[in-house]
Parts: sequence; structure tokens; C-alpha cells
Amino acid sequence: MKQVIIATKNRGKATEFKDFFAVYGIEAVSLLDLKRDIPDVEETGITFEENAVLKAEEIAARLSSPVLADDSGLMVDALNGRPGVYSARYAGEPKDDQANIDKLLGELRTVPEAERTARFVSVIAIAIPGEKTIIRKGYCEGSIAFSQTGENGFGYDPIFIPEHYIKTMAQLSKDEKNRISHRKNAIALLEESIKTIAGRGSE
Ligand code: IMP
Repeated sequence: MKQVIIATKNRGKATEFKDFFAVYGIEAVSLLDLKRDIPDVEETGITFEENAVLKAEEIAARLSSPVLADDSGLMVDALNGRPGVYSARYAGEPKDDQANIDKLLGELRTVPEAERTARFVSVIAIAIPGEKTIIRKGYCEGSIAFSQTGENGFGYDPIFIPEHYIKTMAQLSKDEKNRISHRKNAIALLEESIKTIAGRGSE
């Protein structure tokens, strides 16, 4: 089976990429699947684009192979776009999804429903050694609930209500999330590149 390496150790993201790529008959191999340990790339960028490119190019150089990386996060209008690129560690170290949710709900406690608009953003970079890195961006619009509900997905899914839905992302099935998500919308712009790189290198 053709493979594409995904520069992530986030289990939630890795599972979603495996499902997206299975549709093309391609196996998405995450850093969790590789036999050797790949040290984390420091995300020193201040934009999703910078961090996606950093991760994709550094891992591609290390493995001498095409690599896809996603940098993603949640932007809340009432917080001027925060947590943004700092979504994963919004409540500090170590990374803790529940602590991030608690912090965000606390900050929005007095914000009325009409002002709780937000969006998930995913920037995907595909780095191929010796070639120009390809970058595409996807969004998923929605709003922040007043309390958390649902067990599916990861990260902020239990408090994110996608536009036109009354459930949180964590109450949707994985197929439903994968039809509307920011990651899906970025991948949809990359179909041709993904088919081209599949099979051009792997572990
Ligand atoms: P990254 O690994 O630096 O891209 O961090 C992404 C962070 O954004 C995750 O740890 C989550 O907190 C949040 N995030 C990104 N995508 C999603 C999603 O699909 N659902 C919920 N939270 C997400």
C-alpha cells in the first residue's frame, strides 16, 4: 500500500488522517507508527503557516522523504482569536485538553451566545526534499458551548458547536466530523499533491 508520513504524535489527528487517506488507498503513517523515535519539532512560529512548514520541512529532511504536517487550533472571536497557535498548551505545560477546555469556558463565562462565535483552523504543509513546500488552509466555523458534552474526537471538540448543528463536535460520529472539519477542508485542496507524493518515500 502507498504511504504518506504525517508529522504528528497527536493520536486524535493521526486517526483522522488515517481515515482521510484510506479513501485514496493510501496509508497515513504517523510518527507514533515509526520504529525510531523522532524528537519533537519546536513550534517557534507565531502563525499556523510557520509552524506547519517548520514541522513538515524538519521531519522531511530528517527522514529524506515527503512529509505532511498540520498545524491547527481554535480561534475565538470574543478572545481576539485566542487560543490560536497556542491551542495545544493554552492552560500551560504539560499539554492537557481538559485544562484547556476549563480555562476557555471560564474566560467565556459571561459572554452571551451571539458573541461566542469561533472557528477551527488547519494549515497543512507538504514538504518534499528539494522541492517547494505546498501550503493550504481549511476552516470550520462554529461557536463555543456553555458547557462540555460528548466523548468523541479530541482537544476542544466537546465545547465546539459547528455552524448549522445543535450538537458539539464531540457528539458527532467520526465520519460526520471528517465531512465538515477544518482538516478535511484543507485536505480537499491538496488531493492532487497527496496522490503525487504517496509512495515516493516511507520508512
Ligand atoms: P498542534 O499539534 O500544535 O497543531 O495543536 C493543535 C491543538 O489545537 C490541539 O492540541 C487541540 O487543542 C486543538 N485542535 C486542533 N484540531 C482540533 C480538532 O479537530 N478538534 C479539537 N481541537 C483541535
